[in-house]
Amino acid sequence: MAVPMSSKQFVAQAKKWGLRLDTTRHPDWATHNRNNVKAFGPVYGVVIHHTGSSAQTGMIDYCYRGDPARGLPGPLALGVITDDGIVHMIGWGRANTQGQGDGRVLTAMKAGRMPPFPPGPDTTDGNSCFYGWEFCASGASDPFTPAQFNTAVNLASAILDFHAWSNVPASVIGHYQWTGRKAGDPAFKPTADTRKESLNWPVFIEAVKKRLGGSLPPASTPKPPTPEEDMPLNAADIVAIRAAVQAELEEYGARLWGKGGTAGAYVARSDVREADILQTVDRIEEDTNDDGTPPAPAPPKA
Ligand SMILES: [Zn+2]
Repeated sequence: MAVPMSSKQFVAQAKKWGLRLDTTRHPDWATHNRNNVKAFGPVYGVVIHHTGSSAQTGMIDYCYRGDPARGLPGPLALGVITDDGIVHMIGWGRANTQGQGDGRVLTAMKAGRMPPFPPGPDTTDGNSCFYGWEFCASGASDPFTPAQFNTAVNLASAILDFHAWSNVPASVIGHYQWTGRKAGDPAFKPTADTRKESLNWPVFIEAVKKRLGGSLPPASTPKPPTPEEDMPLNAADIVAIRAAVQAELEEYGARLWGKGGTAGAYVARSDVREADILQTVDRIEEDTNDDGTPPAPAPPKA
């Protein structure tokens, strides 16, 4: 759970990560939002969109105003990114961007886990909980420009860095991952990729990971040990670990084989895996001294 950054905090992050912002075309951007409908936050991730049009300046203004005639008042994003890679700020706060999507995707992102794909039925408001951005691109024949691709990488990095969200694919999604209504949004291919793929999301995610480099705490940040953390596991801990492992495996198995697929094979595998993990837990316990302190580190290998 994260409190959204303020507009000032965002501007500082944008500077830190080398984003070029235009804050002058719509100077009231920092207070232009839909917070009167519902609060913005807590936030759980970044959503990348394409506008579905090659329009540039006109699109910035359209996304600022929205489309009240269609019941869609602006802003329609926090910023619109033109072909030159500039982020034109049009709002800050809750915007009419993602709309409804699959609540299971949000649940996974809240837990820092990979969202399920493809998304199921729309059940949940995505406007309150994501930072959404519109890139001017109409699709496969008009993909992101190299400058837009770079901006997408820096934008995602700036937000993940601020919130210390360390699992990139669980914190940055395309609109197509949020709702089945938006397959192919965004459609982009990095120019470094010569294949004719209209969408190469994995390449983008890898670029964000590389850009963030060591600036995020890894999943297990080395910390000085505290007595509490080094307490040996008790029976209740092991039951809890067992339940967590089982839940992970069920989800993984369901994704691989579908619910009720080859359940027998899956259960057999999950039992073996669970036994492995419980054995490791035993080993960890054995490796803990009676007073709860960890044993002296093994000498480094030559
Ligand atoms: Zn979209």
